[in-house]
Amino acid sequence: MLQNISKKWIKTFVFLLSLSQIILADDRVFPLNDSIKKEMSGASYHQRCPVGINELRLVKVKYLGFDGNTKNGELVVHQSIANEVVTIFDELYDIDYPIKQIVRIDKFKGSDFASIEADNTSAFNCRKATGGGKWSKHSYGKAIDINPIENPYIFRGGSTSHKASYKYINRNIKNINTPQEKAMLLPNSKAVKIFKKYGWRWGGDWRVKDYQHFDKQ
Ligand SMILES: [Zn+2]
Repeated sequence: MLQNISKKWIKTFVFLLSLSQIILADDRVFPLNDSIKKEMSGASYHQRCPVGINELRLVKVKYLGFDGNTKNGELVVHQSIANEVVTIFDELYDIDYPIKQIVRIDKFKGSDFASIEADNTSAFNCRKATGGGKWSKHSYGKAIDINPIENPYIFRGGSTSHKASYKYINRNIKNINTPQEKAMLLPNSKAVKIFKKYGWRWGGDWRVKDYQHFDKQ
């Protein structure tokens, strides 16, 4: 009898806990307002994009900056994963994973190159996949690139597009001390494991390495 009652209480507690997490996440998920839509159109969004702009959400995330301070960033993602993205970034913060900056890519006029040069973490961007003619997962708001300078896309020949990334082509790192070294995503990184726990794929597992990239089917 007593056991049944306590089981019931535990179930109720777990239910309330998960409910509170959803509510907390909801608190940081917003429909795109008119001014954001205006900033996005012609930059990260255009008429031919494979998702409707109303399917996208603005997500406000907390992160640990390279300077050790807590910061707030904005990402645009698909509505179906918006709450999950908030949770993932909360978990990245909890493990002290440092992030250089998180600014909406329309601030870079939708230029992936400029966003990477600024070592910016970003999500939605309506563009073709690197090295292919298909829509990138970013075009659906279901991909995130994290600390792209420390986690470069590496071409088949072993080179990369951004000078500041040259020193991160070699991933065999012995000492992990600086925020930049901590930002490097490696197969055994806690940050990689967090994304995978939620069913995301990591570009670091692919034959052509895209270390910055995570996406969800
Ligand atoms: Zn990507």
